[in-house]
Amino acid sequence: MLTLEQLAKVIQGEVVQLVQPMSLVHLLTDSRKLSQPAGTLFFAIKGKYNDGHQYLQQLYSKGVRQFVLEHGEPNELKQLYPEANILLVRNGLEALQKLAAWHREQFSLPVVGITGSNGKTIVKEWLAQLLSPDELVVKSPRSYNSQLGVPLSVWQLEANHTLAIFEAGISQVNEMQRLQQIIQPTIGIFTNIGSAHNEGFNSLQQKVEEKLKLFSGVELLFYCSDYQEIHEAVQSQHITSFTWSRQYPDATLFINAATPAGHKTIVVYTYKGQKQRLSIPFADDASVENALHCLAFLLYRGLPLAEIQDRLDKLHPVAMRLEMKEAINGCYLIDDTYNNDLAGLAIALDLLASQPQRGKRIVILSDLLESGLEEEKLYSKVAELLQAHNVERLIAIGPVISKYKNLFGLPAEFYTSTSDFLQRFSSDKYKNEVILVKGARVFEFEKIVHAFQQKVHGTVLEVNLDALVHNLNFYRSKLNPDTKLMVMVKAFAYGSGSFEVANLLQFHRVDYLAVAYADEGVMLREHGIVLPIMVMNPSPDSFAKIKQYNLEPEIYSLELLKAFLDSTEESINYKIHLKLDTGMHRLGFVEADFDTLFTLLHHYPHVQVVSAFSHLAGADEAIYNDFSNLQIARFRSMAAELEERIGYKVIKHILNSAGIVRFPTHQLDMARLGIGLYGVEATGAEQEALRPVSILKTTVSQVKEIAAGDTVGYSRKGRADTDKTIATIAIGYADGYDRRFSNGVGEVIIKGQRCPIIGNVCMDMCMVDVTGADVQAGDEVVVFGPQLTLTELAQRIGTIPYELLTNVSTRVKRVFYAE
Ligand SMILES: *Cc1c(COP(=O)(O)O)cnc(C)c1O
Repeated sequence: MLTLEQLAKVIQGEVVQLVQPMSLVHLLTDSRKLSQPAGTLFFAIKGKYNDGHQYLQQLYSKGVRQFVLEHGEPNELKQLYPEANILLVRNGLEALQKLAAWHREQFSLPVVGITGSNGKTIVKEWLAQLLSPDELVVKSPRSYNSQLGVPLSVWQLEANHTLAIFEAGISQVNEMQRLQQIIQPTIGIFTNIGSAHNEGFNSLQQKVEEKLKLFSGVELLFYCSDYQEIHEAVQSQHITSFTWSRQYPDATLFINAATPAGHKTIVVYTYKGQKQRLSIPFADDASVENALHCLAFLLYRGLPLAEIQDRLDKLHPVAMRLEMKEAINGCYLIDDTYNNDLAGLAIALDLLASQPQRGKRIVILSDLLESGLEEEKLYSKVAELLQAHNVERLIAIGPVISKYKNLFGLPAEFYTSTSDFLQRFSSDKYKNEVILVKGARVFEFEKIVHAFQQKVHGTVLEVNLDALVHNLNFYRSKLNPDTKLMVMVKAFAYGSGSFEVANLLQFHRVDYLAVAYADEGVMLREHGIVLPIMVMNPSPDSFAKIKQYNLEPEIYSLELLKAFLDSTEESINYKIHLKLDTGMHRLGFVEADFDTLFTLLHHYPHVQVVSAFSHLAGADEAIYNDFSNLQIARFRSMAAELEERIGYKVIKHILNSAGIVRFPTHQLDMARLGIGLYGVEATGAEQEALRPVSILKTTVSQVKEIAAGDTVGYSRKGRADTDKTIATIAIGYADGYDRRFSNGVGEVIIKGQRCPIIGNVCMDMCMVDVTGADVQAGDEVVVFGPQLTLTELAQRIGTIPYELLTNVSTRVKRVFYAE
C-alpha cells in the first residue's frame, strides 16, 4: 500500500497535511458517486461545467478523509478539514492519470489496448468472454474509455489478474498519448476508422495517426488491412502486426468468404496456409467485423478450431442500453442486462442510488460473470457494494450466488434459476419500489422485466437521457461560467416526463427548474427534487401548496402580488420572482405598476425578490432582432430601477433557448433553457450540434391488401387509385398524433422506409400505405425520431415542434434509456 509521501511523489503533489495512514482503495472524481468513504481518495477536478472543489465540505462530512486538490490555502484547508490527508497538485485529472499509470506499472501481465471508431466496447466484451476459460480478465467497465474513464478502469488491476483489456477513445488531437501512458498496452487492436468525431481533427489521416499512438509500445497490433488509411499508417510506422482482410490474400488471416445464412454468417478463412470454415452467430456487418477481430485474436493464441467454434457459439449481442420505466404497482424498473460483472454492477448501483425517494431499493441480481476473482471474494465484494448503496432487499438468482447466502447482511431471497423465481413470482410482493434488474445474459432476465412491466400499449416514447445531457452541455458551453441556468420542465418536461428529466437535471446540477403550475412542482418535490423551483402560473388557491412544498411563485401583477403578500406570515421568509412585460404582452408588470409594486414590497420585507425576468417574443427569428434588442434594453432598464428601489440585487434573466444561441451577450445572470434541451434548436442555425432526444414508436397491428377503387377509414377519405397494401398502426389522435396528418400529409417510418398516412387519422389508430414494402404485423413504426424530425413534421401541419412534443398523450408509455 502506498504511503502519502509516495503518492505525493507519484502525482507530483505537495503535501498540505498528513494526519493518518494512507488507505487507498477507491478513487473518486464525482462526489455524487461516493459509496464507501473509508479508503476513498477524492480528486477535485475543475471541469468545464463543474468544479469538484465545491463538494469538499460535503464529502468531508460524509467521512472522506483523503483529498487531492488543485487549489486552496494550506492553513485554511487544515482548519476546515483537520482530520484529512490533503495534497495539492497543479491539475487533478493529470494527477489521477499519473496515479493510474503508476498503478499499471506495478503489473507485468499482457494488456490489450483497443481503439477505433466503432466496436471498441463490443470487441472488448467479447474478447473478455472468449478468453474467460483460460484467463482472469480485468476490463474497462461499460465504455469507460475517456481521459477520466481510462484511469478508473486501469485502477481495477489486481495481482491475480492474468490479462487486461482496456479501451481508449479520443475526440481530439493530443489525447491518445496520455491514454497510452496509462494503459501501456502490450497488444493492440485497432477496430476500424470512420468519420465519427471528425470535428476534433484536421483530416482522417491525422485521426488515424493520433489513434495509432496508443500502440507505440505494443508487441503486436491486430487490425483489418482493408481500411486503407489504417494500413498505410501502420506500415509506415513499422509496427509488428497481425492483419486480417477480405481483400488481400497476403494478410495474416485471409477471409475467403463471409456468407450470411439466416441469423449466422459462415466464414471461410485461410490461416497459416490452411483453409477452414466456421460460423459466427451474427448476420449484421458490424457484428461480423467485431467477431473477425476476435477470431484473429483466438487464432493467434493458438486455440484449436473446435474450441474457437464452441466459444464463438456462446457469444451474444452486448446490450449497450440501460432502460428505466414504470412498472406494476407504482414500481420503477432499471433494466440493465449489460454484462453482469462487478464494475458494471457498481455503475448500475450508482444509478439506483441517484433515484431519490423512488421508494425502497431492490436489486434482482444473477450470478456474476467475473473471471478475475475467486467466488467467495467476489460475492463478499458484491455484498459490500449492495450495502454501500443502501440496497434494502436482494433477490439473488443463480446457483453460485445462492451458495454464498451467508455473505449478504440484508433481507434477501435466493432462487436457483430465473424460472424458479418466475414460478413463485407474485406481483403483490412489490409496491412503490425501485428495482434494479441486473443479470448476466444467460439468465434471460428479460423475462423478469416482462413480468414487472405494466401492460404495454404498443406506443412508447423513448427518451434518450444521454442525448439530453449532450444538449444540456451544448447550451452550457454557450454560457459564461457564472451565468446560472434555469431549465423549463413545464408541461411534463415538454412531454418527455417531468420527474426523470428533473432528476437528471438535478444530478447535473442546474441552478433552477421552472414549471407552469404548482401541482407540477409538488409532484417533483414528492419525487425527491430539491432544486429551487419557480412556478409560472401560481393561482391564489395554490399558495398554500407553494409554501408547503417550498416552491417559488412567479408574480406578474399587482393583484397577484397583493394576494400573495396577504397570505404570508411575517415570521417566515418567502422568495418570489417578478415577471416584467417588455413587449410580449402576455404576463408581467409594466412600468406604470412600479410605484405601487415597490411600496408593497417595502411593507413586506420578509418577501424577497430572488429574480426578475422577461420573455422575448421573437428570439428565434432574425427579422425580430430589433424588437428583441428593444425588449432587452427595456428589461435592463426596468430591472435596474427595480434593484435600485428595492435596495438589493436580484437574478436577472431574459434568454430562452433561441436567445442563448442568438443573443449571447445578453445572458445577464441566468438563462432559461426549454425546447433546446429536448433536441430542437429553435433558430435552426445549430440544429446539427444537438442530439434528438425522443423517438415516438408504435407497432403495426394488421396488414391488408386492398383493391383499386376501395377506400380506407372514416368518411372514405383514403382512396386507393391502384391496388395497395396498407398497414394499420397503433397510434391515433388520442395519443397525440395530430389529425392534420391525415390523407398523406403525415408519414411514418417502417423498416427504414417512409410510408404516407392514408385516410383520416382515427382516435387510437391510423392506416399507412406500405405498398411494395416488406411489412408485417408486429413491425416497429417510427412516428418521429432522428430520421423524421419534429421540425419537419411540424412544418407539414403548420405548427411548431413544441406542440407535437407536448401533445404526446400521457397514456403513451415513456421509456428512458442511457447508452
Ligand atoms: C417556456 C418558456 C421558456 C423556454 O422557452 P424555449 O423556447 O422552449 O427555450 C423560457 N421562458 C419562459 C417564461 C417560458 O414560458
